[in-house]
Amino acid sequence: MLRTHYSGEITPEMAGSEVLLAGWAHEIRDLGGVCFLVLRDRKGLVQVTLVKKMVDREMFKNVRSISRESVVQVKGEVKSEPKAPRGFEILPKVIQVLSAAEVPLPLDPTEKVECELDTRLDSRFMDIRRSCVLASFEIEGAALQAIRDYFYGLSITEVFTPKIVVAATEGGTDLFPISYFEKEAFLNQSPQLYKQILMASGMDRVFEIGPIFRAEEHDTRRHLNEAISIDIEIGFVDDDEVMNILEGTIVSAYRHVEENCKRQLEVLGIDLRVPKIPFRRITYTEALELAKDGRNVPMLWGDDLDTETEKFLGETIGEHYFLTEWPSSIKPYYTLPFEANPEVCHGFDLMHPRMELASGAQRVHDYQMLENRIRDKGLEPGSFEFYLDAFRYGMPPHAGWGLGLSRLVMTMLDLENIRDAVIFPRDRTRLVP
Ligand code: ATP
Ligand code: MN
Repeated sequence: MLRTHYSGEITPEMAGSEVLLAGWAHEIRDLGGVCFLVLRDRKGLVQVTLVKKMVDREMFKNVRSISRESVVQVKGEVKSEPKAPRGFEILPKVIQVLSAAEVPLPLDPTEKVECELDTRLDSRFMDIRRSCVLASFEIEGAALQAIRDYFYGLSITEVFTPKIVVAATEGGTDLFPISYFEKEAFLNQSPQLYKQILMASGMDRVFEIGPIFRAEEHDTRRHLNEAISIDIEIGFVDDDEVMNILEGTIVSAYRHVEENCKRQLEVLGIDLRVPKIPFRRITYTEALELAKDGRNVPMLWGDDLDTETEKFLGETIGEHYFLTEWPSSIKPYYTLPFEANPEVCHGFDLMHPRMELASGAQRVHDYQMLENRIRDKGLEPGSFEFYLDAFRYGMPPHAGWGLGLSRLVMTMLDLENIRDAVIFPRDRTRLVP
């Protein structure tokens, strides 16, 4: 055992007890007669104080030569000290370097000023040593835990579907081809087809949290070429029902983070507000009407909402909202059209004022209708046989959605760039580390 406590677990009340700490040499301040070693672990910082006259001469000399960010272990006694940052300090008995850090460092983890994103991503391991970066990834983990718990609570089963596939979910060219023995295959852009196939299996309620791959050459703050998607698909329900689940998912994540990540939120300086549900539901047509005021050239019914419109709506509405009743022409073939007016469909988007978070729909479950819709979109039903087959022998009505994990986190924590919400992002130019 290399440590008995994390820094954050020590309190002034523990004065007199011996602890074994391990972490990184965050800072070494040599004031002549006194030397401070600030040790950092994932729970924070702790001050180790060496008074020249009171400690072993060798130890005093050695500590001054420890390079910053070396991994060190300190065995010492807790002493209450009102002047120390957290009301105590550690008087060391033994200080051991477990792994010395080279000089110079690729970036300075104690630096308060932001350094270039590229430099940070090149040395992500070092970047995560910065408390605010660490905090955001710990919060992401907590959000994921809450979301999984929420799904388990609704008796939704976690599944895994293949990422190596033969067909595009929605046709198109935004797929990464890979060589698969003598065949061509692709990285899957979405678990859509597979989670729908599972609706024909009687599993009824499934979710998957996994990567999606998009070969789009986008250069934005909210797109990456590999992203983590939280997907659900539920049988015997409609779009309304899965929108309720989506609201519940968002709120569970926020609540859990609010309750369990107080320290991380404080590090990030975030006053988290749990969004109020139900979220406003606005139809696509109402959205166009609203957005008219915000633009010079009005949008035409049937156009996809552009970034400018999304921005205007976000600023006007100011909180999460659903966009519903989209034109069938701009939603995928698997989206169920309204029976009375097939120009409009049961697709929806969940929007944060800053960007889209999720898309979902009640799906087409009739085989013939689905085949026709595939054809209408200019696609070849033959290439979807494995998918269409599932609709031929009893497919229940079903609905579902896909939510981008990083977008949830970046909007929750007000992060500028999606790259701040992904440990090792993949974009047009970055494939390493
Ligand atoms: P957008 O219009 O914002 O590009 P999309 O409509 O193409 O997104 P969907 O296919 O609806 O995306 O995927 C469902 C969700 O997955 C999105 O709402 C988003 O949160 C997330 N997502 C999709 N593509 C990306 C991407 N390239 N990078 C990060 N997240 C993504
Ligand atoms: Mn979408």
